[in-house]
Amino acid sequence: MLNDGNVIPQLGFGVFQVPEDDVTPVVAEALKVGYRSIDTAAVYGNEEGVGRAIKASGIPRDEIYVTTKLWNSEHGYDSTLRAFDASMRRLGLDYLDLYLIHWPVPSAGRFVDTFRAFQALKSQGRVGSIGVSNFRVIDLETLIAEAGETPAVNQIELHPTLGQRELRQYDANHAIATEAWSPLGQGTLLDNPTIVTIAKELDRTPAQVIIRWHLQLGNIVIPKSVTPSRIAENFDVFSFELDGPAMEAISRLDTGSRVGPDPATFSAGL
Ligand code: NAD
Repeated sequence: MLNDGNVIPQLGFGVFQVPEDDVTPVVAEALKVGYRSIDTAAVYGNEEGVGRAIKASGIPRDEIYVTTKLWNSEHGYDSTLRAFDASMRRLGLDYLDLYLIHWPVPSAGRFVDTFRAFQALKSQGRVGSIGVSNFRVIDLETLIAEAGETPAVNQIELHPTLGQRELRQYDANHAIATEAWSPLGQGTLLDNPTIVTIAKELDRTPAQVIIRWHLQLGNIVIPKSVTPSRIAENFDVFSFELDGPAMEAISRLDTGSRVGPDPATFSAGL
């Protein structure tokens, strides 16, 4: 449960880098397999296709959890309200479960105003939960002090080689749920010898072992695949467990190496 009382599925489905033309059958497949949480973003350029898949699924709207994100170019109070309307039009939805500030863009200094617009959208009942993505401790401290509200979620790059211990601890201390993006290191961790060995011992796949590591740490996790068999494989993670030594062996792979940009300096779109 999030700090605002809402509930988010711990395992969801990400659609970064899935083109608009391909995304509808991919999301349809994920919903068929059982995923009930979809993570998109305005900048992914596929909100319309995601919305089409949700509508066509016939699954009641309140059984699907939808997340989208505000892009860097839209920071600021009024521009955030406009960007939200545009995302909702593309998604074809009138209610959003979770809206995230995609990146803090510290150099622009506008994430507090942006979050104030999020607070307004929440109080109007248009968004269930409001959160952030790629926020560092220093950004979270500024936001909480100036906006007077703690975000429900911080979605950050997090996988076995980027364990984010300090940030996860800060999130936990402030009842912020940590959500892991690129949970598989964009696929780069799937041939890691430690992970491959654990997977063989358990007769599971490396992707399943990594997703299980996230779940057992308490992370929300949103792996992405466009391949039906992998979409199913990544959801089939609730009938086995990693023991303590396996969890520790995977956590020891932390080298602090990112596959994505550094939030301190990332300002694409400005
Ligand atoms: P990921 O770690 O989920 O890895 C996805 C890649 O791993 C796939 O493209 C595929 O190559 C491989 N893969 C997945 N399942 C596999 C399997 N079972 N077997 C073999 N290979 C497999 O990477 P991601 O897509 O970057 O991250 C997941 C989601 O996180 C995104 O789709 C997006 O929704 C979100 N995200 C958010 C941000 C942000 O800034 N907030 C940034 C990046 C991603």
